Amino acid sequence: MSSNPVDRLPDWRTTLPLAQAAPRCGARTRAQRPCLCPAMANGRCYLHGGASPGAPRGEGNGMWKHGLRSIEVIERRRQITAELRRLMRSLREEQQRVLQALM
Ligand SMILES: [Zn+2]
Repeated sequence: MSSNPVDRLPDWRTTLPLAQAAPRCGARTRAQRPCLCPAMANGRCYLHGGASPGAPRGEGNGMWKHGLRSIEVIERRRQITAELRRLMRSLREEQQRVLQALM
């Protein structure tokens, strides 16, 4: 490219190929095709970027009538559910072993 501004390519001639070379989102659309929107830093487009992290944490935000959906309670509920799943899995495996031994 010359230093003469008259000979310069228009901006779009240089920036459009750069924009078109941007990484694509790739999320599966309702038409079962990959989304072709340009991806953000997290690898998905602005439509498929995932759940919002929500409002800032703290007592200034949120409903504090019972605390059932506070971060601590949600985390505790997750742990209990994971433990329950683990126990149910081992129970099923034990049941399979007993049934195998009987046959
Ligand atoms: Zn997308």
